[in-house]
Amino acid sequence: MIHPSKIIKELGIAPLKKLGQNFQVDVHAVENVAAFIDPAARVLEIGPGLGAWTEVFLQRGHEMVLVEKDRTLARRLREVYATNTKVQVIEGDFLEQQIDAEPFAACNAAIGNLPFYVTADLLLKIICDAQQIHQALFGIQYEVAERLAARGGSSLAIALACQGEISIAGKIGRNSFFPVPNVDAAIIRFERRANIARPHLRTLLKAAFWGKRKPLRSALAKNPFFAEDAAATGWPARLAAIPERLQPLMAQRADDLTAAEFCELYDFL
Ligand code: SAM
Repeated sequence: MIHPSKIIKELGIAPLKKLGQNFQVDVHAVENVAAFIDPAARVLEIGPGLGAWTEVFLQRGHEMVLVEKDRTLARRLREVYATNTKVQVIEGDFLEQQIDAEPFAACNAAIGNLPFYVTADLLLKIICDAQQIHQALFGIQYEVAERLAARGGSSLAIALACQGEISIAGKIGRNSFFPVPNVDAAIIRFERRANIARPHLRTLLKAAFWGKRKPLRSALAKNPFFAEDAAATGWPARLAAIPERLQPLMAQRADDLTAAEFCELYDFL
């Protein structure tokens, strides 16, 4: 593997902090867990950068769709994979992609060493909006991974736990990156639970955590998100019918609820 510093130098650029550019120098940690992804899966990669993870998954035979925000890196990826019919390179911000349209609609797995500055938004988009994605492997900040694996306390942890199983599959020490970040990373593994679609979960989480300091009863009644999605969900009207068994949750704050309690509330709504 050519050292990222050499490729970056040849491209005449410097790693951009604002895009979270820490490139992986050795990929053993990824190789160790790559078999988790179904061999037949069409794989979406977020932030391929210089292609460190891309190569691991291409060697395993996957078709891949790569989304890279950095113009120079996207151009290089297009050149490197110009004759590879299994690879499609999209230049752009993943957060702005229409995930239910092609080429994303046909992807059923997602991977990526995620830029730390925007990890939560990228994960929420994959987990809540891209219901076609059944499996994922992501490199994220180690501490964040530990909090997510605890299955509660933040809207992201609850989103993951309500939609599937998440676990820490490996560690990527900070020295495996160029430039070296000031934290270690973990590879998290996500598997969507079969037959569970909660397509409006994000609306419920935004509403509940919008009024984080408020009891749920008040946050759900006053938040702006329920009204925006009312045509699709019908939730504002359902609030008046919350059954007795869920009433104790209404007196609590969002960050005190477990993922299981959120799922129960969602399923009623
Ligand atoms: N996958 C490469 C690796 O492991 O060496 C690069 C990982 S680096 C931590 C994050 C990559 O995500 C960079 O290439 C960066 O340009 C790209 N990126 C940052 N924000 C992005 C976004 N919103 N959408 C798509 N790519 C993004």
